[in-house]
Amino acid sequence: MQREITIGGGGLSGLALGIALRHRDIPVLVLEAGTYPRHRVCGEFLCGIREKILTDLGIGDLLENAPVLTEAIWFRNGRRVIQHDLPIPGRGISRHRLDHELALRFRSLGGRLREQERLLPERWALPGTVLALGREPDPSSDLLGLKRHLRHLTLRAGLEMHCAPGGYIGLCPVEDGRVNASALFRLRPEIKGPREELQRQYLLACGFQELVERMDQASPDLDSCAAVSSVPQGRLPRRPGTGPQICRIGDRFGMIGPFTGNGMSMALESAALAAPALADYSRGALEWEQAVRTVERLQARQFSKRLILSAALHRSLFHPVALPLLTALGSSGLLPMRFLFRQLR
Ligand SMILES: Cc1cc2nc3c(=O)[nH]c(=O)nc-3n(C[C@H](O)[C@H](O)[C@H](O)COP(=O)(O)OP(=O)(O)OC[C@H]3O[C@@H](n4cnc5c(N)ncnc54)[C@H](O)[C@@H]3O)c2cc1C
Repeated sequence: MQREITIGGGGLSGLALGIALRHRDIPVLVLEAGTYPRHRVCGEFLCGIREKILTDLGIGDLLENAPVLTEAIWFRNGRRVIQHDLPIPGRGISRHRLDHELALRFRSLGGRLREQERLLPERWALPGTVLALGREPDPSSDLLGLKRHLRHLTLRAGLEMHCAPGGYIGLCPVEDGRVNASALFRLRPEIKGPREELQRQYLLACGFQELVERMDQASPDLDSCAAVSSVPQGRLPRRPGTGPQICRIGDRFGMIGPFTGNGMSMALESAALAAPALADYSRGALEWEQAVRTVERLQARQFSKRLILSAALHRSLFHPVALPLLTALGSSGLLPMRFLFRQLR
């Protein structure tokens, strides 16, 4: 007899965990509030995940055709600040494709996936229930995420990052010759309009004129436009062993600042870390409390350092003094980009 694992949230961490558990023949039910395929606000730059983890999860083949990115350029107010090789190459893959393919893989392995069904809070603490619900919105945050795909946009490096005092935007190639443009801005209530127009208006308001001119030459995919508000700068995990016995993975465990391009990797890593203890619980080899503590402890050990560093760095991207200071250090070669990049993975 094996006990079923119920996963709330069919994003990256929930589906990857479901797949890893199905590879161990564990019965799994995933409840997903949305449907597939769907566009998500995400930079779609996946970096830092080890090949072995992808193989252990049984999903390495899903990334085979994703563009490999080896170089990044950072601009501030249209001026090139730093150009550097990525110490660890990344991949560009849209969430529209990746989440959909993970859902198909999970179902093909015999997992039960119910779309448009929410896991309600009264079930969160039940034994055998895992929260993979994504980040908790932060009502005090004034950060707005806006994303769209463009065709026929030529990039100046594998990955382009543009920063200005009111926000930043990353340009990353994904499949089918598209470029994903994903941005995070401080909310400006005076900017209103249809979702398809918002990113352009925010870019202009933040002084990204040259970039807007380049993007205007490209063809936007209007269906890909997505927005999300109240985005946290990041969130540190609870201290292991404190709080109610709720099993959390991915962004629901702890959220790394979006600019790091490591949240997708962390979501997949957290699934790989959680799967063995949850499988042991399902087979009756571990009590639920032990399984939850194990999952919590393994994630805290793996992620705490990068979560703390990213929380500090992310705030500086929106700080009127810290951003110019960081870019001055960057352009004079004094910012240890490669070191920071590695520490955030
Ligand atoms: C602006 C921005 C840019 C980013 N750029 C990058 C990047 O370039 N690279 C990178 O690696 N990461 C990036 N990230 C972070 C990345 O998107 C997340 O870290 C990653 O999606 C986390 O995966 P997850 O499975 O924890 O959550 P999600 O992928 O968010 O999945 C959570 C799922 O739970 C579902 N759900 C929510 N509530 C319920 C409920 N009650 N019941 C059932 N289902 C529910 C949601 O519909 C969703 O499908 C970015 C984030 C933002 C905001």
